[in-house]
Amino acid sequence: MVLESPLNIAVIGAGIGGLAAGLCLAKKGFEITIFEKSNLKGELGAGIQLSPNSLRVLFSLGMERSLRSNSSYSEFIAIRDWKDGALIKKNPLNPDSEQTYGYPYLHIHRGDLMKVMLDTIKADKLISLRTMSGVAAVNEMVSKCAVKLDSGSEESFDLVIGADGINSLVASCLDSKVKPIFTGNVAWRALVPSSNLSDELIYKNAALWLGPRRHFVHYKVRKGDLINCIGISESDAWKKESWIEKADIKEFEVEFEGWDRRLRNLVESVDEATLHKWALYRRPTIKKWHSDRLVLVGDSCHATLPFLAQGAALAIEDAAVLANCLSEGHNSREAFSFYQRLRERRVKWVQFMSNANARSFHCREQFAPIRNFLLKSFSGRALDKLYKYDAIS
Ligand SMILES: Cc1cc2nc3c(=O)[nH]c(=O)nc-3n(C[C@H](O)[C@H](O)[C@H](O)COP(=O)(O)OP(=O)(O)OC[C@H]3O[C@@H](n4cnc5c(N)ncnc54)[C@H](O)[C@@H]3O)c2cc1C
Repeated sequence: MVLESPLNIAVIGAGIGGLAAGLCLAKKGFEITIFEKSNLKGELGAGIQLSPNSLRVLFSLGMERSLRSNSSYSEFIAIRDWKDGALIKKNPLNPDSEQTYGYPYLHIHRGDLMKVMLDTIKADKLISLRTMSGVAAVNEMVSKCAVKLDSGSEESFDLVIGADGINSLVASCLDSKVKPIFTGNVAWRALVPSSNLSDELIYKNAALWLGPRRHFVHYKVRKGDLINCIGISESDAWKKESWIEKADIKEFEVEFEGWDRRLRNLVESVDEATLHKWALYRRPTIKKWHSDRLVLVGDSCHATLPFLAQGAALAIEDAAVLANCLSEGHNSREAFSFYQRLRERRVKWVQFMSNANARSFHCREQFAPIRNFLLKSFSGRALDKLYKYDAIS
């Protein structure tokens, strides 16, 4: 358990959390092997919002230039009513975010974000990334951890970090009873080529449309050539949690029938090849995030609803805090326990805020005037707490 440098650490999973963990730990001098079951070449999802709290970490890892040049900047996010697009509120994004928090608020294609992170990993001699290397089992022993791969081979490491997402194998080693729970929401994700759209001002900046039991978010990616769309609706009919499940355009259109003409126009203009649906699950926070040699980051530990666009941001923050704790701790158990203490309250608060947004965004029509009034009078101070968070120091 005593930390001797350089420690040899396995990270299971090369999603945003695993890549961030690998980079943050290598920066502290640890030797990292990342195991990923896929080839990372398939469908990587559509867009992602990178808020200032996550960019503080990613920029510190040397990705500022490439992230800025691959991202789109919205001046604001407009919150609109579903029926007629009436503006409820405008929340400023850029350049306000940089002026207030020191970092911008970026919109980026997930494939572009992964490419930037993978290029940074490739340039780091302390990291070895092994794709097509699914992990079948992890056994913790007194002085080592054995990582058994799907191929049957076994390797040993000082520590193992579980960054293997919502159906985490590593989390089940820590608590086999905690299982993901279906939240009753389905996310529809698609890209719309901007050239398919009329020149409506409404598509130029990000927007959040609120309707009964549904909401819809869109923002530009790929320098505005594409509009990323996410529609979330309450449904019990379908429960598959997967980024790669194709969806039917007719079904998607029915979900947003009767909405404002410009929103429907967006739905009808999607590139059907990019249309996917994903049942949204959350993971009840597990009591102990670690043992002596195993620890969790990201969705494996605390998958949350995407109503605050903070799941990946939390995973990136986890990575930075964990690396600091390990580089300063006397032994891994102490470092992991300090990491959990530093992170748990924030994670629970973000989950609470995301759940509160779920209720507010999807409220029934008769409560919408109260919700809209509250949104208008909301000063944004809660977002200060979200975006000012400094995971590095
Ligand atoms: C519709 C939607 C929109 C979202 N928008 C945002 C947003 O705008 N901003 C934001 O911050 N967050 C957002 N999120 C949340 C965010 O996408 C997730 O929280 C984040 O991607 C989690 O990253 P992760 O690395 O923890 O897990 P994952 O991305 O799930 O990565 C886990 C990786 O582990 C691999 N793996 C799993 N098991 C094994 C194994 N046994 N062996 C080897 N490899 C394994 C998987 O193949 C995968 O690559 C959104 C989520 C949804 C659903």
